[in-house]
Amino acid sequence: MGAKNEKVRKLLRNLPSVDEILKGRSGEEWLSRFPRIAVTEGIRSVLDSKRQQILGGEEPDLSENTLMAEIEEAITDFVSPKLRPLINATGIIIHTNLGRAPLSERAIQSMTGIARDYSNLEYNLTEGRRGKRYENIRWIITELTGAEDALVVNNNAGAVLLCLAALSSGREAIVSRGELVEIGGSFRIPDVMARSGALLREVGTTNKTHLRDYADAISEETGLLLKVHQSNFRIIGFTGDVPIGDLARLGRERGIPVMFDLGSGCLFPLEKYGIRGEPLVKDVLEDGADIVTFSGDKLLGGPQAGIIAGRKTLIEEVGRHPLTRALRPDKITLAALEATLIEYLDQERARENIPVLRMLTEAPESVKKRARRIYRELRKGLPAGLDIRMEEDFSQAGGGSLPGINLPTFVVSLRPENSLFSMEERLRRSSPPVICRIRDDRIILDARTIGDGDIKTLSEVLKEVFS
Ligand SMILES: *Cc1c(COP(=O)(O)O)cnc(C)c1O
Repeated sequence: MGAKNEKVRKLLRNLPSVDEILKGRSGEEWLSRFPRIAVTEGIRSVLDSKRQQILGGEEPDLSENTLMAEIEEAITDFVSPKLRPLINATGIIIHTNLGRAPLSERAIQSMTGIARDYSNLEYNLTEGRRGKRYENIRWIITELTGAEDALVVNNNAGAVLLCLAALSSGREAIVSRGELVEIGGSFRIPDVMARSGALLREVGTTNKTHLRDYADAISEETGLLLKVHQSNFRIIGFTGDVPIGDLARLGRERGIPVMFDLGSGCLFPLEKYGIRGEPLVKDVLEDGADIVTFSGDKLLGGPQAGIIAGRKTLIEEVGRHPLTRALRPDKITLAALEATLIEYLDQERARENIPVLRMLTEAPESVKKRARRIYRELRKGLPAGLDIRMEEDFSQAGGGSLPGINLPTFVVSLRPENSLFSMEERLRRSSPPVICRIRDDRIILDARTIGDGDIKTLSEVLKEVFS
C-alpha cells in the first residue's frame, strides 16, 4: 500500500508545471503561433488528464515527445471552431441535427461574394435610393411559384408566427385537429399560434375533418382559415382532410384569407422520380391558397429561411408588421437562397446541382456504384478478418419531409469485434466526425448521403478507428 502511494507521488512529481512548459522551447514557439489563453488551457488540460490517470493507478507516458504532441493537439483543438463539417453516413438526407441541406456550389459562391464585399442589400441601384431587403429575391420566388408577391424571413417557424400575427391577431384562425402538429425541437403549431396573438379555433377530429366543419366555425371573429402540412407523420386508415382547393373556395365565398403552412415546400416535381405525396408550391397557389409558408432548407435544398408567398395585398400587410424586422434574414442567407432558386429555372440543372435533390432522386444503381467504391476502400484498408458487407437498405428524406417514404439504397455495413456502441462513439468523435446508423449489431454507412469526395476521408477515419 505504502509502496503504491510512493509510486503515485513519484509520478506526480515527474509532471512538469504549466509554467515550466510555458518557459520551455515548445512553450515559446506555441506562444508565437497561438493566443496565450489557448496555450495555457491546452497545457493545463493535458496535465490535468495525466494527473487523473496517475491518481487512478495508471502509469501514463510522460515522455517529453508525447507530452508536447498531446499539448499541441489540445491547443489546436482549443482554437478550432466547434461547429464543423462532418460526414453524414446516416442516409437521412435532410437531417435537422446535421444542418439540414448542404448547399449547391452556386449558392456557396454567391454567399462568399456577398460576404466579402458591400452589396445592394437595401439599395435600389436603378433609382439610387434606399431599397427593401426583399426586393432582390422577390423576382425568383414569384417566377417559380406563380405568386403575386413574396417575403423571406429567418425560418419557417418565424414565417408562420409572422403571418398569424399580421393576419389573425386577436381573431380566430380555424385549423383542423388533425393538423395541430409538433414538428420537432418542441415547435408546436398551437404554441406558435398562441404567441402570435391569433386565437386557435380547432375543428374536426384527429382523423377526419370535413369542409362543413370549417364552414360551421366561421363567424365574425374569424381572421384566417389555416391548413398545416402534416410533415413528419401520416395518419392512415379512416382519414380525411379538406383539399386546399375546397378550403380556398370556402374562404373566397366568405371573404376570409386562406393560409397553407407547407413545411417543406417543394418546387421540384419529385413524382417523376417516384416520390409521391408532396404538393408543389405552384399547384397549391394555383388551387387558390392566398398565402403559403415554407422552409428554405428542407426539400428546397437552400439555406435556413422561411418563405412567404401569395397575394400582394396580404404580403404587404405581413411586411408592415413590426415582427418582420425582428425576423429578417441576413444578406448571406439571401444570397444563398437566391442562387439556389436560380437553379430551379432549369429543372434538370436543379436536380444535378442542388445536393438535396440530387440525393433524393439518385437511382439505386448509381448509389450502388458508390457503395461498391466505399466497400473496396474499406476492404483494402481495414483488418482482413473484419466482417464488412454491402447490403440493400432504405434511406429517408428526413427533416419532417416525405414521411413514410423509403428510398431504396445501398449501404456498407461492418460488424465490429469490440463493443458496437464504443465504435459508433469513436466514429462520432473522429476528425472529421462520421455519423452512422446502427442496426442488428452492425454499423451502417449509407452511400446515398456520402459524397464521392468523402470516400477517401471516410476510409481513413475508419482505418484509424478499426485498426
Ligand atoms: C418544418 C416545419 C416548420 C418549421 O420550419 P423551420 O424552417 O424549421 O422553422 C413549420 N411548419 C411545418 C409544417 C414544418 O414541417
